Amino acid sequence: MGTVYAIANQKGGVGKTTTAVNLAACVAEAGYETLVVDVDPQANATLGLGIGKQSSRSVYEVLVGGTPLAEVIRLTEIPRLSIAPAGPDLAAAAVELPRIAGSETRLREALSGIRERFAFTLLDCPPSLGPLTVNALVAADRVIVPVQAEYFALEGLAGLLDTLSLIQKELNPRLTVAGMLLTMHDGRTRLAQEVERDVRRHFPELVFDTVIPRNVRIGEAPSFGKPVIHHDRYCAGADAYFELAREVAARG
Ligand code: ADP
Ligand code: MG
Repeated sequence: MGTVYAIANQKGGVGKTTTAVNLAACVAEAGYETLVVDVDPQANATLGLGIGKQSSRSVYEVLVGGTPLAEVIRLTEIPRLSIAPAGPDLAAAAVELPRIAGSETRLREALSGIRERFAFTLLDCPPSLGPLTVNALVAADRVIVPVQAEYFALEGLAGLLDTLSLIQKELNPRLTVAGMLLTMHDGRTRLAQEVERDVRRHFPELVFDTVIPRNVRIGEAPSFGKPVIHHDRYCAGADAYFELAREVAARG
């Protein structure tokens, strides 16, 4: 039975999609069957894995139409890495789902049919705590929270943890926090060092040892439709995501 990770933070631009795509690629590289489910209508994870967002059936059909997840899953060019793509139609799901009673569990039900197939499933969430993110958190076993190493990083984190506890209490008792992940860290600046110190002080035990550096290769890889390890295997960004994959696997 595989493990399902939601990559969530209601803030945009903190490295959720980058982490979903690159962690998935590293885990697949390590030999595990891996699935990315793109739960964001912006479809950045879909594009970042080289799939055109108009060219596929999307997760919308699964969440609203009841299509089996297996029917929308596609192979990527990377061995052992599959994706359930998002498309622009997914934006409508955020409006339609709240009108359907009990729709919080749609993704969980859809995943239950395929959990045997994938050792790791990563759910890339949109930048809000709306119905799509709730669906992901209800379907997940663990949450990874990317935190951008910038000013205001702590803002909103306490609220996010409250939301996670609420979902755990009301909808998904299995849910735990795998960890907070510092992203886009520029070790040369004092700001990044202070943010790291503050986040570790506020949430001891919860922050991954691995820190993702700000790295040009990570930023440019999506424009080639590739994870960073397939763009420049030996850059600092690739090293960091390999290290994160080991840490996530070790934490179980
Ligand atoms: P989110 O999914 O949380 O909105 P993204 O993963 O899309 O955030 O990241 C926001 C932007 O920052 C993207 O353009 C991405 O390529 C870039 N980015 C993310 N992580 C890094 C990094 N470690 N180094 C450089 N650029 C990064
Ligand atoms: Mg994103």
